[in-house]
Amino acid sequence: SETKTGVQQDFDTSAVRELDSAHFIHPFTDHAALAVKGARVMVRGEGIYLWDSDDNKILDGMSGLWCVNVGYGRTSISQAVYRQMETLPFYNSFFNTTNVPAVQLATLLASIAPPQFKHVFFTSSGSEANDTNVRMVRRYWDLMGYKDRHTIIGRYNGYHGSTVAGAALGGMAGMHAQGGMIPGVAHIGQPNYAESGRGMTEAEFGIVAAGWLEEKILDLGPEKVAAFIGEPVQGAGGVIIPPATYWPEIQRICDKYDILLIADEVITGFGRLGTMFGSELMQIKPDLITFAKGVTSGYVPLGGVLVGSRMASVLIEKGGDFNHGFTYSGHPVACAAALENLRIIQDEQLVTAVAVDTGPYLRQKFATLADHPLVSHPDACGFVAGLNLVRKKAEVVHDCEPFDSADGVGMICRGHMFSNGIIMRAVGDRMIIAPPLVMTQAQIDEMVGRIRDALDATLADLRQRGLF
Ligand code: PMP
Repeated sequence: SETKTGVQQDFDTSAVRELDSAHFIHPFTDHAALAVKGARVMVRGEGIYLWDSDDNKILDGMSGLWCVNVGYGRTSISQAVYRQMETLPFYNSFFNTTNVPAVQLATLLASIAPPQFKHVFFTSSGSEANDTNVRMVRRYWDLMGYKDRHTIIGRYNGYHGSTVAGAALGGMAGMHAQGGMIPGVAHIGQPNYAESGRGMTEAEFGIVAAGWLEEKILDLGPEKVAAFIGEPVQGAGGVIIPPATYWPEIQRICDKYDILLIADEVITGFGRLGTMFGSELMQIKPDLITFAKGVTSGYVPLGGVLVGSRMASVLIEKGGDFNHGFTYSGHPVACAAALENLRIIQDEQLVTAVAVDTGPYLRQKFATLADHPLVSHPDACGFVAGLNLVRKKAEVVHDCEPFDSADGVGMICRGHMFSNGIIMRAVGDRMIIAPPLVMTQAQIDEMVGRIRDALDATLADLRQRGLF
C-alpha cells in the first residue's frame, strides 16, 4: 500500500517488529526492553528528513549516526554505486592488484588531507581503522628498533569503535567490562570543562587536562609509549568540545616525548567542524587520521587510515610485508560512492558553508535555547552541538544542579524529541545534535523550534512526574 509520504510499503509494521525481535540482534541494545517497545521502522530518507513506517516525518538532527553529511536521497551516489556494481562489483587489493576507484579515492584523499598525508589504508569501518592504527604504530616502533614502545594512551569517555582494540582504545567503562580491554592500552581524563574545570578558566583547564597526558607518559615511562589517540571533539561521549588551549598542548607533549599522535576523525572528518578535517581546526599535525562515516555519507560502509609521511617512510617504503588487511580494503563500490560523495561536498562547498554561514548560524540559534528552564550552557562547534538538562540553572556551569541520573531525564527528553519530529541523541542528561551539512538556515530555524517544543513537553512531563 502507498502511504501519505509516497513510500511503497509491502509489509506490515507489527509483523516486521515481531521478526526484528525474534531474529535481529541490534548494536548497543537491551533486547528485553526493545521487545516490549518494538523498534521504529525507518523506510525512507530525503534531504534532512526521514520517514518511518507509521508515516511520521522526522528531522534527522544526528545525520543517521554522525555520517549522512550530504543528506539522504542523493541519486548521483546511488547511480555511481550502480555503475560500479555493473562494471566491477568486487575485486580485492591483495596479490599485487588494484582497482581504479580505490586509486582515484586514495589520490583525492591525499589532495584534500593535511599536507603530511600522501597514503591511505582502506577498511570498511571506523573500528577496523582503529584496529589498523594499533597494529601500524606497534609495527612502526618495532621497525624503528623500539620494541617496548607498544602502549597507546586514550581517554576516558572517548569512543574509538567496538572491535576489541577499538573498545580498548575508547574509554567507555561499560565496554571494557564486557571483554573490551587489551594489554598495552592506558587512559587519561577527558578535557571536559563542565565536569573537571571548577575554579579554572577554560584556557587554564585546557592546559591542565593536556598535562594529564604528560603525567601518564612519565608514569608509564616514555620509552614504553607508542601513541596518543583522541577525537578532536569527542562525539559519542557527548559532544565534549575541548578548550582551545588543549590540542596545541597535547601536540607539544607528543613532540617532546616523540610519541605518535592519532586523530580519530571518524566524526570530525569531511567538514563536520567547518574544516575538511578537525585537526586543521585544532591546529595539530597528527601522524595518523582515522576516518569513516562522512567519507561516503554512510551510503555504503567505508573507513580507513590516513598515514602521515613520518610513518609512511618507514612502514611503507622500508618495512617489507605488513601482515594486515581486509577482504574489503579498497572495495571498488565503496570507493565509487566516496568519490561521488566527496565531489558533492566540494562542489556544493559544504565545508565553507559550515565554516562561515550555517555553522555560525546554528551556533547562534542553538544558544537561544539557554533561556529555557531546563537548559544550561548550550554550545556548538561547526555542525555538532550539545546542551545540558539541569534541575537548577546557574551562571557558572559547575554550579548547576544536575538531575539524579537514575531518573533518566535525558531518555525522557529524547522520547519527546522523537514525538516532536526531531532526532536528538541523549548522553546521560546531555542532549546532542550533529545535523547533515546540507541543512539550510531555514531548516536550522525549524530544527531549533522543534527542539524548543520538545523541551517544553519534557518540562511538563518532568513536572507531572514530580522531578522538576
Ligand atoms: N571512532 C569514532 C570517533 C566514532 O565516533 C566511531 C563510531 N561512532 C568509531 C570510531 C567507530 O566507527 P564504526 O562504528 O564505523 O566502526
